[in-house]
Amino acid sequence: MVQSSVLGFPRMGGNRELKKANEAYWADKLSRADLLAENKRLRLAHWKVQKDAGVDIIPSNDFASYDHVLDHIQLFNAIPERYSSQGLEPIDEYFAMGRGHQKNGIDVPSLEMVKWFDSNYHYVKPTLQDNQTFKLAADPKPVREFLEAKEAGIITRPVLLGPVSFLHLGKADRGSTVDPISLLDKLVPVYVELLEKLKAAGAETVQIDEPVLVQDLPAKAKAAFKPAYEKLVGDKLPKLVLATYFGDIVHNFDVFPALQSLHGIHIDLVRNPEQLEAVLGQLGPKQVLSAGVVDGRNIWKTNFKRAIEIVETAIQKLGQDRVIVATSSSLLHTPHSLDSEKKLPAEVKDWFSFAVQKTSEVVVIAKAATDGAAAVREALEANAKSWQARSSSERTNNPHVKDRQSKVTAAQHERQSAFPERYAQQKNHLKLPLFPTTTIGSFPQTKEIRIQRNKFTKGEITAEQYEKFIEKEIQDVIKIQDELKLDVYVHGEPERNDMVQYFGERLDGYVFTTNGWVQSYGSRCVRPPIIVGDISRPAPMTVKESKYAASISSKPMKGMLTGPITCLRWSFPRDDVHQSVQAQQLALALRDEVVDLEAAGIYVIQVDEPALREGLPLRAGTEREKYLTWAVDSFKLSTAGVKDSTQIHSHFCYSEFQDFFHAIAALDADVLSIENSKSDAKLLKVFVDKAYPRHIGPGVYDIHSPRIPSEQEIKDRLAEMLEYLKPDQLWVNPDCGLKTRQWTETKAALTNMVNAAIFYREKY
Ligand code: GLN
Ligand code: ZN
Repeated sequence: MVQSSVLGFPRMGGNRELKKANEAYWADKLSRADLLAENKRLRLAHWKVQKDAGVDIIPSNDFASYDHVLDHIQLFNAIPERYSSQGLEPIDEYFAMGRGHQKNGIDVPSLEMVKWFDSNYHYVKPTLQDNQTFKLAADPKPVREFLEAKEAGIITRPVLLGPVSFLHLGKADRGSTVDPISLLDKLVPVYVELLEKLKAAGAETVQIDEPVLVQDLPAKAKAAFKPAYEKLVGDKLPKLVLATYFGDIVHNFDVFPALQSLHGIHIDLVRNPEQLEAVLGQLGPKQVLSAGVVDGRNIWKTNFKRAIEIVETAIQKLGQDRVIVATSSSLLHTPHSLDSEKKLPAEVKDWFSFAVQKTSEVVVIAKAATDGAAAVREALEANAKSWQARSSSERTNNPHVKDRQSKVTAAQHERQSAFPERYAQQKNHLKLPLFPTTTIGSFPQTKEIRIQRNKFTKGEITAEQYEKFIEKEIQDVIKIQDELKLDVYVHGEPERNDMVQYFGERLDGYVFTTNGWVQSYGSRCVRPPIIVGDISRPAPMTVKESKYAASISSKPMKGMLTGPITCLRWSFPRDDVHQSVQAQQLALALRDEVVDLEAAGIYVIQVDEPALREGLPLRAGTEREKYLTWAVDSFKLSTAGVKDSTQIHSHFCYSEFQDFFHAIAALDADVLSIENSKSDAKLLKVFVDKAYPRHIGPGVYDIHSPRIPSEQEIKDRLAEMLEYLKPDQLWVNPDCGLKTRQWTETKAALTNMVNAAIFYREKY
């Protein structure tokens, strides 16, 4: 019989109960006991959802109060001393590592948090010492939670992050030089001890995640699999299913001999269905294949027909008992349940499947593979009908968009002249001084702004009243920019709720959920808009506000748009057309906006692309280059429709461009503003080495903190930058937008920034 399996379930709960409980606990409004009880309630509820759906293999230890990698840091006692020496309760020590702790005389910052592979989820980085030791926690969470489920009558398959991934995803602590992977010998015995305890508790099988196998691995990490997994197999230990996801593992097949004695291997067949044949060829004679055919990263209904075909291929080779139907990855990256969506158009809702619905999907596919299609005929017919409806819907197909895409030319991607000629015209037209000062777009989103937006959304004030309010906000920020003597103004983005949602709401082809939250990190959740169909722009999206702002400004006004790649990456994309096609549609819509802004008298236009880097395919090579080609093309298509005298800016919230500098250069933006205040100015060297000819504004101060940088600090920072950049190449701006800041600190910081720029202007 073909079993069904879920690799992990979202933790937040249908109404973000976990977020609410955590935040209440942090604010001292919920007791520790109540917090732990709420966690337990959520775990049980989530197991029950899966049990009721009929899932055969239900995960445990996939739940985390904050982050599952952080769970393992605590589980192995890999806790840096600055936390362990504080005498905190385990849960407080845990949160201290996750988010810092500033209370009762204790003041420790959090551990570093970074993106989990190419997803928008962030994990806490294991941070290791030269003299690192590991020790299993006294009451190990995986055992405790296995027993908790068992008590409720549910036998689960515990999930662990494997030792190679745990170490490879970690780093040496400040002041240490240890190579994490060299700690393997010390770590593996702790896994053995933990696995023995799980087996003793009744766990027959354990899911051990080694997602680093989809990456390009250094030889040392590859070599670590053999010594690790040799020791993790034995009579006293549960059987292991090693799980990989978000990519293929074919390039790491040389590791496979080391995995031969494991019970099974899980692969992601949504992302890389083509790896199936090769992996089937590598499996040992008794090994099981867990086939990830239900997408853990997106919200679309699974195409049952296609999924069953894939599973059948595996069954032909292995037989039913050696195939498991699974989600491609943990469902952590999908919203909880579709049931709470009351406002989605019925037509569209029928195309979606959130976590709760996906648990039923694995069950149906497994049943079809076991008993034949007739056994689940109704489900298959409904699924086929829904896919058919989606592919022929007017919502998904807009012939005008397709027609326009077919006519896109190479020339549309190029500005009229090369940069020197453009710059000459821009200089003349915009009359900017040396070291021009500007900001990145948003000004403080005050409480008042949120109140008025809410009232407008709820219909408590009219569109006219809201518009008047926004105009007043724009007047205020322009007055402030006059006082600050900035050189290029912005309108402040008071009308924008979110930099992607705002555009999604003004484009055809998007829909929005009311409760489709996905964990981003800790208690923070995002609600990505969903691209359902061909994208087009029914009307200008930002022209009204920018035009109004320009009409009352004495200096150039910078128009502000979110770029095509960022709109794509921070949405749930379609799974029925390639992402490059969606990016091009977004680019064409934005191109019209850029041209309209120019026609309305906006001669500086910034197109933000902070998500460009996170879209980079996980492995270097052809796939990455292909991505960069279409990503750069979409940016160029969106911006190249303007005259030479119009200045195109772009913005990135980081400054590590080494891996893909050629793509940044290929954007051909006249001005780039980038994060730099927390990074080393040395990173700017790449611009010199590659003889980057255009203009750059490396951020001169951190906008994430209320701290006000002194004029001297900013001067020093500019001096460092001038070691790399030419005086007429350098813009002066903060790291990023100021929406999360208060006005007092914003004015003070910008005053110092402008004075520092004036100082250099007079000097040169
Ligand atoms: N223009 C946006 C702002 O200032 C940019 C935000 C971002 O890069 N994340 O808010
Ligand atoms: Zn930014």
